[in-house]
Amino acid sequence: MSDTRTTTTTTTTTPATTTIRSRGSVRIDTEVCKGCELCITACPPEVLSMSTEVNHLGYRFPQLHPGCTGCAACQLVCPDFCFEVYRFDEPRLTVVEVSS
Ligand code: SF4
Ligand code: SF4
Repeated sequence: MSDTRTTTTTTTTTPATTTIRSRGSVRIDTEVCKGCELCITACPPEVLSMSTEVNHLGYRFPQLHPGCTGCAACQLVCPDFCFEVYRFDEPRLTVVEVSS
């Protein structure tokens, strides 16, 4: 009888991570957004990106990533008043994976 056993070698690697500090956050009324993208370019730390999905108006909308400073530039530039901005008393840390 032949030996049908197989050997599987599993290599586990721990993904590289980095810690991002957020001093604020935003609430985005995505259903009001008209997709102009002014907020994307206005955000100094570049923590906003446009969604791939669309809202009920058919527009893509911004999504927040860790690292917001609470500077309110997005709120000031948005023509549709989509943003509420909050500042934290203490910075909040988010651990994110980084691609190598
Ligand atoms: S508050 Fe400032 S840092 Fe935060 S998302 Fe808006 S523009 Fe970006
Ligand atoms: S600036 Fe306002 S309307 Fe324009 S994409 Fe950003 S959230 Fe939407």
